[in-house]
Amino acid sequence: MKESLEEFYNGILGIEPPWEVVSISRDSESRIVTAQVHYKKEISLTCPKCKAESKLYDHRKRRWRHLDSCNHKTIIEALVPRIRCSEHKVVQLPVAWAEKNSRFTAEFEMAVLIWLKEDPISTVANNFDISWDEVDGMMKRAVKRGLERRKKSKPAHIGIDETAFQKRHEYVTVILDKDKDVVIDVLDDRKAKTLNNWLKQQDISDLSTLKSISMDMWDPFINAVKSNFENAHDLIAFDRFHVAQHLGKAVDKVRAQENRVFKQAGKDNPLTRTKYQWLRNSHKTDNRATKRKEFLQLTQLNLKTARAWRIKEAASMLWNYTYMGAAVKEWKKLLGWISRCRLKPMIKVGKMIRRYFWGILNAIKLKINNSMLEAKNSKIQKIKRTACGFRNRERFKNSILFHLGGLDIMPVPTQ
Ligand SMILES: [Zn+2]
Repeated sequence: MKESLEEFYNGILGIEPPWEVVSISRDSESRIVTAQVHYKKEISLTCPKCKAESKLYDHRKRRWRHLDSCNHKTIIEALVPRIRCSEHKVVQLPVAWAEKNSRFTAEFEMAVLIWLKEDPISTVANNFDISWDEVDGMMKRAVKRGLERRKKSKPAHIGIDETAFQKRHEYVTVILDKDKDVVIDVLDDRKAKTLNNWLKQQDISDLSTLKSISMDMWDPFINAVKSNFENAHDLIAFDRFHVAQHLGKAVDKVRAQENRVFKQAGKDNPLTRTKYQWLRNSHKTDNRATKRKEFLQLTQLNLKTARAWRIKEAASMLWNYTYMGAAVKEWKKLLGWISRCRLKPMIKVGKMIRRYFWGILNAIKLKINNSMLEAKNSKIQKIKRTACGFRNRERFKNSILFHLGGLDIMPVPTQ
């Protein structure tokens, strides 16, 4: 049997009873195909809320953008019935192809969301020929939908990490479920009060399974955890990733200071920018013999920067000790070395490690694995780069949850 054009469009648009395509029109100039969809007259109307058979009240004309067909923008247009229910008054019927209040079909939104996983909003807006705000709106709705669908978890190991945006003046705090490998929440700043409120909002039973909280040596976070957990002193772990971050920043400071001295003396610093990058990323340096040799020479230079780097490297080795006695002994040795190194930024970090040593020992004792924290941190940096930075806190928070929340974000139209 030959299929009519309307039946054909029912098939490709996925329109099923009680709806049907009644006509198709094409505007060749603007390259738009519009499918008129009607609610089948012979099917009785029921209230979407209570399913009671109801009378037609009126129709509302609505339009949705659908995925393009053959380079034509494709629009679904429908007269959507509104019914009058004795209990729920006037209610508009849901449609099968779009979520409530959306001006796009669910399939269109899905395609946009899939692209958004890889590309910045501006690129996606261009590709789909929609506005920046429309893409942003879809992303917001996706996160909201995902958070509403998410089941409560009882994390055993959580991580708390602050991250800067807007040229380092503003912060958010990211809460991670380390076992599920997802971001649980993003908080507005990095203040004790904010984390304290968040902890208080959680159900006690959800946090009763908690075995560790890894974080930076940051008093506001420590104080918030202390005021919520009696065993805070056993839970808090200052992990390898955060300790290494402080040491890395201190090495950078030593290099900047040394650079100034070279410049003032009119000399070139043997540690050029590229060579310094080798030192910074020494754990990633490849093993090709020539480079390796040059690299080793670099670390042997009697430069303050090279000395600072050797301390940083020594610290990273200490995490391999699993026997507490040996670990304590080796850390104390390193702290002695740092205190005698005459490099101010390193001495400062040394003092910090001494003060928070109890939490570093917890990290060793609890065998805290920091790879997840490190990976999430670098993904957040990538999100910032892709978006060319964020000026808006809500948008930054939303982006983190969109990409790293492990959320089920796809729209499902109301049937
Ligand atoms: Zn009703």
